[in-house]
Amino acid sequence: MRIDIITVLPELLESPFSASILKRAQEKKLVEIHVHQLRDYSTNKQKSVDDYAFGGGAGMVLSIEPIDRCITALKAQRRYDEVIYMSPDGEPLQQALCNSLSLKENIIIIAGHYKGIDERIREHIVDREISVGDYVLSGGELPAAILADAIIRLLPGVLNDETSALSDSFQDQLLAPPVYTRPASYKGWAVPEILRSGDLKSIEQWRQDESLSRTKARRPDLYKKYSSPS
Ligand code: SAH
Repeated sequence: MRIDIITVLPELLESPFSASILKRAQEKKLVEIHVHQLRDYSTNKQKSVDDYAFGGGAGMVLSIEPIDRCITALKAQRRYDEVIYMSPDGEPLQQALCNSLSLKENIIIIAGHYKGIDERIREHIVDREISVGDYVLSGGELPAAILADAIIRLLPGVLNDETSALSDSFQDQLLAPPVYTRPASYKGWAVPEILRSGDLKSIEQWRQDESLSRTKARRPDLYKKYSSPS
């Protein structure tokens, strides 16, 4: 898979992709991540990529031309499945969407800034808009990194234990059960006995029960979907 990210602040995307699982995924050639400096696609001397909003009001807007030029240049080299814009008013990011995006070959992610991007880019160039939650961040770089991380960890071979992503929260509408490691007792706080019993069937049942009760208590909305899928 190949992910191209367009941004005015490439430095914000350096560290998320240069450590741990996301770094190894690139080293293993399971994913290619290319970060593009939007200013390289500006046609003016100052390399500016934003302008005042028509109609007035506070805040600058990312201009249409540099983004269009960048995407056109990328599309001239390969076919892209989707051009995604990270935006607070986009579709809320959920596991099912990550699962389906992890099956794509090539995607472009646009990280906005300031007041956002010229609406015509959204109307004519963008295929999908994704939000990471009902709050506003100062730029789309962290949302782009979140999306890329959520997708990349699903690619076959990225996680050491391949079944591990499947047992994470949300894969089956349920939250994950609690996990423990050694020591078995710390300050008198003991690990549930069943997890140390070696009885794999009972452990599986315990985990399933914990998942259910945790989801019911913390996310009744998910529990409803799980217990009565439409
Ligand atoms: N004026 C916009 C917010 C702009 S924030 C509004 O009120 O909707 C600047 C940039 O940060 C956006 O262009 C977007 O790319 C990114 N961003 C901010 N919050 C986000 C969120 N919750 N999800 C995804 N992207 C977000």
